[in-house]
Amino acid sequence: MADFGATELDAFRTEVREWLATNYPAELKDPGATTDPEAVWGGQRFVGAAGDGDPQIVWMRRVAEKGWTAPTWPKAYGGGGLAPAQARIVEQEIGRGGYRSPLLSFGLWMLGPVLLEYANDEQKLQHLPKIIRGEVRWCQGYSEPGAGSDLAGLATRCEDKGDHWQIDGQKVWTSYADKADWCFCLVRTDTTKKHEGISFVLIDMRLPGVETRPIKLISGESPFCETFFTGVKIPKGNLVGRLNGGWEIAKRLLQYERQNISAGFGEGGTAGGASGDLAEVAKSYEALTDGDLRRRITENKMNFQALRQTIARTAAESRAGNGPSAATSIIKYAAAEFAKERSELMVESMGVQGLGWSGDGFSEPERLAVRGWLRTKANSIEGGTSEVNLNVVAKRVLGLPDPK
Ligand SMILES: Cc1cc2nc3c(=O)[nH]c(=O)nc-3n(C[C@H](O)[C@H](O)[C@H](O)COP(=O)(O)OP(=O)(O)OC[C@H]3O[C@@H](n4cnc5c(N)ncnc54)[C@H](O)[C@@H]3O)c2cc1C
Repeated sequence: MADFGATELDAFRTEVREWLATNYPAELKDPGATTDPEAVWGGQRFVGAAGDGDPQIVWMRRVAEKGWTAPTWPKAYGGGGLAPAQARIVEQEIGRGGYRSPLLSFGLWMLGPVLLEYANDEQKLQHLPKIIRGEVRWCQGYSEPGAGSDLAGLATRCEDKGDHWQIDGQKVWTSYADKADWCFCLVRTDTTKKHEGISFVLIDMRLPGVETRPIKLISGESPFCETFFTGVKIPKGNLVGRLNGGWEIAKRLLQYERQNISAGFGEGGTAGGASGDLAEVAKSYEALTDGDLRRRITENKMNFQALRQTIARTAAESRAGNGPSAATSIIKYAAAEFAKERSELMVESMGVQGLGWSGDGFSEPERLAVRGWLRTKANSIEGGTSEVNLNVVAKRVLGLPDPK
């Protein structure tokens, strides 16, 4: 990997800044511009009113053409081939310029990194370029009705039928399964062993026998599905890594997932302050006269700075070493606690205005804050619950004995 000095990096920063300013679609420059919220996820199922002409899609394609949706991935697959220090500059400049994210993608955050580590050349060439270009949207088929925290208890069967694998079973809480083109999935290939009987396969969601049933939430939204596989035939080549070797890949992918969830709280991320500065909001509701609330808000803001610094440090360690480690569980846990506390303080500061998520009498920012508060309840569940992450920290980071 090339070693860059300050002069080269400064020149690269200027180049990135100019490229972004030139290529950002004019229609997106107005921060209030409304575009189809699905566009940023790409995929073959996205049609949208403006289709390919949607400015978000135009933006995604331009950034992808540079390889900057996956700045550090090899050029051979369409990635940017950049050194970590350069990739950081791209991320920083996108954040600094207030540009929208070009592409949100489970493929970029979770699947791609493990394909780079575990897939064969054919699989990498088939899937990585389409992930980078946002052409295929992926979902994650891990959880099952009887296997959430105890993920290795999964039962979805994958049988060797000679010239193909056959998948039968059910997944649950599959985020955006109804909008996804493909699913990365954990399946059971040996019923006599628990962890050593799991394999990691890739399933085309358009195949016969795949059915998704959206789960409707109290808010009316439906961010996830039950996913059923009945006699689904997938090619032999869709097995990633070793037969019965999927548990190792599954755990590695979770490290990337947890790192990515936490990254939203890091530099340039919006997760830590999406609904405005906490103290400013409290001030506008005249809530800062309450000394106890003032103290808790100050503490939360201090914790946020500490969290940001820790995320920056672990991200630097990850870039310098072999990618994320079990320590991502520390950040995932801390970020979930921070986000929940922050949104509690937000709605508490708003008094009675912090009670409504819809209807007259509540402004849009108020409705968003209350919805955001409800959403944070899932932060300590998704990507592994807080208790499970604490178990990982105890065993894999602190090296404490496993009581089992
Ligand atoms: C917003 C959101 C999006 C999601 N998206 C996806 C997705 O795309 N794909 C996917 O596969 N899954 C997804 N999930 C599912 C998620 O991974 C599971 O909900 C999670 O792993 C917990 O599993 P469970 O719901 O079965 O709870 P359970 O495992 O039944 O846990 C119930 C409670 O028991 C506690 N508990 C369980 N075991 C232990 C233990 N050993 N020690 C201490 N406490 C324990 C848990 O911490 C929890 O509090 C999503 C979840 C959410 C909330």
